[in-house]
Amino acid sequence: MTRDQYTFTDPTQLYADIEPRTQHQPEPGLDAELTPHADLGEDTYRGTGRLQGRKALVTGADSGIGAATVIAFAREGADIVLSYLPEEEEDARRIVEIVEAAGVRAVAAPGDLRDREHCRALVERAVAELGGLDILVNNAGKQIFNEDITTLPDEQLADTLTTNVSAMFWITQEAVPHMPPGSTIINTTSVQAYSPSPMLVDYATTKAAINAFTKALAQQLAPRGIRVNAVAPGPIWTPLQVTDGQPPEKIEVFGEETPLGRMGQPAELAPAYVFLASPESSYVLGETLNVNGGMPTP
Ligand code: NAD
Ligand code: MG
Repeated sequence: MTRDQYTFTDPTQLYADIEPRTQHQPEPGLDAELTPHADLGEDTYRGTGRLQGRKALVTGADSGIGAATVIAFAREGADIVLSYLPEEEEDARRIVEIVEAAGVRAVAAPGDLRDREHCRALVERAVAELGGLDILVNNAGKQIFNEDITTLPDEQLADTLTTNVSAMFWITQEAVPHMPPGSTIINTTSVQAYSPSPMLVDYATTKAAINAFTKALAQQLAPRGIRVNAVAPGPIWTPLQVTDGQPPEKIEVFGEETPLGRMGQPAELAPAYVFLASPESSYVLGETLNVNGGMPTP
């Protein structure tokens, strides 16, 4: 291992070799086909036992931010149930192998989170397979750009709201009764919650909802010893962006608007999830940890 997440590095130069290129994939897209490949921390993330013996359920765990988080969690010592769509089996297989190589358990749990019954069964399966649950990461998400609200298809609106918001409610409702004091819930929101793009009206709306959900639920669950927080990524190189998350012509300049002048890599998100999952953040609740290349947030 030549570099790890602790190596002293100029953040403007880090990942200078991963330039976004115009491309398109059908939804949900695969990391395997992203060109150039994203950095999920496969070769760099070094664990130090921060999540030893923990039991985690992570949605959207096959690719992008969720996959980088899972790799980090595994190397920190957690057993993990990975939720993803059946079409993403290729990506999921690779991540399961990386998790198992860390010497922890990986349980592959494909299925569609728009189905309430699947959300229920997913949590039950996680509890049964891991012997409990003390980390929940609600990370799965849908983002399809639309330039004119009068043409926003009903189906897209319903799918975006259900995937990003309703599924988070359903999974959390099922999970909380199983989570002992000390457990942590982390939701993936977005810089879009505060700086919404005109072509992401439906998506940005869901991300603002996730922020409110996080701050309200953190107060509700604090007396039970369950901490709820969020991570708000900026522009990150993942399949979400090349499956109509952005218009194809915007991909080449993706992330250039940030003060660092570049897009982020999923590997740069993982330490934020590890921090919020681990007991070291014991007094951090209802917080949104922004990982966005320096874009100002409220
Ligand atoms: P990604 O495509 O790698 O991950 C999204 C995952 O969501 C998919 O892999 C898929 O498994 C899951 N998913 C979507 N619909 C689903 C469904 N119906 N049932 C089950 N799973 C489903 O992309 P990503 O960028 O890593 O996205 C992860 C999270 O990060 C999302 O919530 C996204 O909104 C958020 N986010 C991403 C960016 C970015 O620039 N990439 C920025 C801010 C926030
Ligand atoms: Mg995926």
